[in-house]
This record gives sequence, C-alpha cells and structure tokens, in this order.
Amino acid sequence: MLITRFAPSPTGPLHLGHAFSAMLAHDMARAANGSFLLRIDDLDQSRSRLEWEAQIYHDLTWLGLSWPVPVLHQSTRLPRYRETLEILWTQGLLYPCSCSRSDIRAAASAPQEGAPLHGPDGVIYPGTCRPASPPKGPLPQEAALRLDMVRACEMLDKPLEYREKGETIAPQNLPATVGDVVLARRDMGASYHLSVVLDDADQQITHVIRGQDLQDATQIHVLLQRLLGLPTPAYHHHRLIRDEHGKRLAKRDDARAIATYRAEGASPQDIRKLVGL
Ligand code: GLU
Repeated sequence: MLITRFAPSPTGPLHLGHAFSAMLAHDMARAANGSFLLRIDDLDQSRSRLEWEAQIYHDLTWLGLSWPVPVLHQSTRLPRYRETLEILWTQGLLYPCSCSRSDIRAAASAPQEGAPLHGPDGVIYPGTCRPASPPKGPLPQEAALRLDMVRACEMLDKPLEYREKGETIAPQNLPATVGDVVLARRDMGASYHLSVVLDDADQQITHVIRGQDLQDATQIHVLLQRLLGLPTPAYHHHRLIRDEHGKRLAKRDDARAIATYRAEGASPQDIRKLVGL
C-alpha cells in the first residue's frame, strides 16, 4: 500500500507551495487507495508555535484534505533520535563540532581553500573539528554532532542509489559534494536529516513527495537509511511554486498564504487552479 506524508514546520503560515505539496501527496495517495499522513516537524521549538499548528490543520481541512489522527510530532521523538545517534557514535561515525556558522565560513574561505564549495546544507564543512580517529567515551550531550562522511561512505557494501520517477540515481563522492553533515544540533537534539529518515521509516512511508528544493538532501537520507538498515522509499521531488519574479515562495510570504486567499474569498478549487493541479 502507498503511504505518503506531508511534514510542515509550524513556524509560519502555509502558502501556495505547501498547498501544492500537500494536495499532490493527498491526490497520489487517494488515486492509489493508499494513505496520506500529516506530520508536524516541530523539532525547532524556538520557532514552532501552537497557533501555526492550529492554522495548518485549519488550512489543510479547508483544502479538503484529511489524515489519520493522532498526528506525529517530531518533538516527541527525541529519545528515538538519541538512541540512533548512540548507534552511529558507537560505530565511530560521529564527532562533536563546536564551530559556529561564521567559523565555518571563515575556515572555508581561507585563501588556500579557493572559493567555498556549497552542498545541500550550505558551505561544505571544512573539517575543523574532525578528529583523526573516532572519538572515545560516551555520546556527548548537548553538542552538535557531525557525520564523518569519509568513514560513512567506507561502511557501504555497495554503491548508493535510489529510484526517482523510474530512473536510478547514483550519488557520487559525498565527502566532496556534501561533506560532514550535522546529525544532531546542540539546541534541538537531532537535525532535519536524521529526524526525517527515522520518521519516514517508523511511519512506513513508501513514497516521499516533496519539493525540488530538497532533492539534494535526498542523497544524505538514502545514505542514512543504508547505514541504519532502513528501507529507502520512492522519491518524487515536485516543481516549486514561484512568484511572478520566478522566486520560490518563502514562509514570510504572507501575500500567498492560504489563509490570505481564503480571507479574500478564494475557494479550494481556486487554489488548485492557481498551483496548476
Ligand atoms: N519540515 C520540512 C519542510 O517543511 C519537511 C521536509 C520533507 O518533506 O522532508 O521543509
């Protein structure tokens, strides 16, 4: 059975891009007689608000979507994320990192490094905190933890690959193109990459339907699935909804919030037309 999900963060109003993503996933589930799940990505407690979560339910219901309850909240899953970090730590695949964003920018743009390279999470980590051999002792608490990408790739018994729209995608050279990604943030316990992989696996998601902006992150997710012995779902990265200048919509773009259209008298059918469904 096809199981898919929509996983918004309750940090602002849902806009047309979210509506497109959610309706597409809901339509695909319905067409396949499958299941559409809603998951609240509220890992970032400093930015998540209950008001926004309530508005997510309201907007999606208004659009005609439904989902099983109770809805999974990432904020309730920290023990699961932690136990997985323990496993990766024990395998020598993680190390603590105390670099700030500006430390990373400065190190990556040092003259001898050439122009800084960018990966799915921004500037590729230059390796400042990476130890020569795996750190010993217990998993550090309240520290940012990075995946040692060279070691992680060495653990693979066969090359990475996944299917998208009938094609096989084989990511290459992750140490150079992605680098040592953060799997635990100091303030949040886990990063997006770790939480999304564990949630999708535990919710038995068979099809991940999400925007093209996350396409580059998928290779990290497939790698984590392989390291953790989890199944890889089918991926569908859909086109992005853009404004009239071709810019992708941002959370702050209140003018294109679903609630704004509703207040101005639009119908759910109008929203479908606006996003080309
Ligand atoms: N919370 C993520 C976002 O809003 C979900 C990404 C995903 O679907 O994997 O971008």
